[in-house]
Amino acid sequence: MRLKLDSLNEPQREAVLHTEGPLMVIAGAGSGKTRVLIYRIAHLIEQSTDPFRIMALTFTNKAANEMRQRIEKMIGNEARNIWMGTFHSIFSRILRFEAERLNYPSNFTIYDTDDSKSLLRSIIREAALDDKVYKPNVVLGRISMAKNRLISWQTYINDPFYRADDEVAGRPEMGRLYKLYQQRCFKSGAMDFDDLLFNTNVLFRDHPDVLHKYQHRFRYLLVDEFQDTNVSQYLITKKLAAVHRNLCVVGDDAQSIYAFRGADIQNILNFEKDYPELKTVRLEQNYRSTRNIVEVANSLIKHNDRQLRKEVWTDNEQGDQIELIKASSDAEEARLVATSIFEDKMNGALRNQDFAILYRTNAQSRNVEEALRKMNIKYRIVGGLSFYQRKEIKDLLAYLRFVVNHNDEEALKRIINLPKRGIGDTTIAKLIVMANENDVSLWDIIGNIYTAMSGRTANSIDAFANLIKSFDLAMQTKNAFEVASQVARESGLLKELYEDKTPEGISRYENVQELLNAIKEFVDNPENEDKTLGTFLQTVSLLTSWEDDQNKDPDRVTLMTIHSAKGLEFRNVYVVGMEEDLFPSQMMLNSREDLEEERRLFYVAITRAEKKLTLSYALSRYRFGNIRSCEPSRFLQELDGQYLKVTRRFRTEEAAPRPTRFAAQFKRAGAPVKRIPVNGKSAHQPSANFRPSDPMRLKAGMTVEHPKFGFGTVSAVEVQGNDRKARINFQQHGEKTLLLSFAKLMIH
Ligand code: ATP
Ligand code: MG
Repeated sequence: MRLKLDSLNEPQREAVLHTEGPLMVIAGAGSGKTRVLIYRIAHLIEQSTDPFRIMALTFTNKAANEMRQRIEKMIGNEARNIWMGTFHSIFSRILRFEAERLNYPSNFTIYDTDDSKSLLRSIIREAALDDKVYKPNVVLGRISMAKNRLISWQTYINDPFYRADDEVAGRPEMGRLYKLYQQRCFKSGAMDFDDLLFNTNVLFRDHPDVLHKYQHRFRYLLVDEFQDTNVSQYLITKKLAAVHRNLCVVGDDAQSIYAFRGADIQNILNFEKDYPELKTVRLEQNYRSTRNIVEVANSLIKHNDRQLRKEVWTDNEQGDQIELIKASSDAEEARLVATSIFEDKMNGALRNQDFAILYRTNAQSRNVEEALRKMNIKYRIVGGLSFYQRKEIKDLLAYLRFVVNHNDEEALKRIINLPKRGIGDTTIAKLIVMANENDVSLWDIIGNIYTAMSGRTANSIDAFANLIKSFDLAMQTKNAFEVASQVARESGLLKELYEDKTPEGISRYENVQELLNAIKEFVDNPENEDKTLGTFLQTVSLLTSWEDDQNKDPDRVTLMTIHSAKGLEFRNVYVVGMEEDLFPSQMMLNSREDLEEERRLFYVAITRAEKKLTLSYALSRYRFGNIRSCEPSRFLQELDGQYLKVTRRFRTEEAAPRPTRFAAQFKRAGAPVKRIPVNGKSAHQPSANFRPSDPMRLKAGMTVEHPKFGFGTVSAVEVQGNDRKARINFQQHGEKTLLLSFAKLMIH
């Protein structure tokens, strides 16, 4: 079969046909980079390259599978033999073949983060160090950082820079822990995720014959999403490509969203230096999205200073304007999104799978899930579990279930040693036998433990029993939310998560807070007559059974974080939670780099949409169990208003609840948030008493002040849909069209 290349445009074809020598395609979203990779592989195989000699590295396994299927359609079964997958999966495969060289067994175990943390916990204890100073996740984070920079424990221990750094941080024994950790992993025949890349680098460095073998074997290497590779990944690829030099990388610096994991735009710049004979191809035409979507994305990303300039345009239809949903509360926002999906499905004869809902943090899925369930719209969560299936949620729910019903043995078994309080599996097994022999419940034994045993374990069990008894007391006087908060705090669950500052730890902490929000919402809701914890738990179990039911249906709305949406496309896309402190995330406001990364993340979200994009925000949101008022995201103001329209808003402005005090006990500590101006160099310093005026008063000819763009003159005000827009000529920034519902303008 002859591969048809006429469904590619000229530069795409050029990239596909340039098979020999290094090639870089740096181009905007939706311009066909992944399509180029697919055609390129198919073309190579058609030119009789053995598929075993092609290695293609993708960012997720899902992306790899999709790519493989598409190539299979083009060229048949042969596609199965391509080495295609994520860096971790491909290189763990090589490590298994070559494990002996590193004195590892070929069936080495791969530790996930929980395994690593639990190993570190034992090591810290054995080394008689204080685990409040040497918190396992902090130590692990440090070790991971070192490995991603290819620093071995030997180098680390002898490096005065790291030593000084650790001493300042009050953790002088870090090097020793790194050493002990590596030695123990090695002894157990285990590698953690970082080891997979680290050891591949070691393998290629110390065993030139092995490197030689793979260098000759892989004649063609291809990397998708190149902007998100880290140094360690880049070095591996570079070594493998050193003989044939047929390395093709595609990416988009404007979509680099993994700096927090060590990815560096520097790779793109280094690439040009490392390969002077490099051929660079630019793709500028977007095939994915309507003109409105492409242009609104362009208007956003130009606010970033650090980026390679490129044009993105499209021949596609103009399309609908970008919809903005303004809601009074987070629950209302989710409802409006679900309603909008329902209506669009009806009006446009669309299926569930045409829709995706994207959010910044995992915890936001809870509201959206609830609203979809209420309207009986089926959904799937990609790259994660649905809210009530997440481990930390099940943990807290197990506590609550047990507090409500002390006969719930499954719940008891789950929580008795959670967080770890020195009650091991053998002890628990013994207690169960005792309960059975005496024909009493497990709790009967635990609640009166000194009648059954004595010693240190008995003390731990007694402390646990007292904890539960204190919750029993709370149940008599407090409402469901107060009890749940007390359980989350005093059980130690919240604290353990709070101390884990890894991205996963932060997300788990947010999830638990979100569960508390859900309970608060349940208590506050006047429609609920019975506000007990038991009733709340009952509604949760009903939700879970609904879930089992819907999972069989392939036609579902996709829910996911923006991070997991990279590379994907959907007909209609919703981006929810467009509020300050949520998106951009509060944790990402400390430097210009962080803020730019958040903006790139929003750019990724916008550019997933083919036909219709909807953005939404709420004026108030439950956070830390309290209703807090929210401001629309600064990113909304950065979008060019001519592409936007406000279509839905909550019923009456007065309906917005008043903000209440921030609950101090749940407040995350950390550096105070420092606001930085949105557009550095030319940022306008607003007048000292800048207070936005009522936008309804705005008329052509007026002089206004904008916090970012400074002073300007209104040239026109127009009404569109439910909203009003103003065209304003700014002295420093030229003409802008601003949407008045969130442009903060002061009339002078
Ligand atoms: P991202 O940056 O989001 O990863 P990308 O640059 O990888 O995007 P692709 O996913 O390859 O873009 O392509 C976007 C969409 O445009 C896909 O549906 C693809 O099939 C389509 N497309 C790309 N090039 C062409 C073309 N020449 N003709 C028709 N459709 C095309
Ligand atoms: Mg792509």
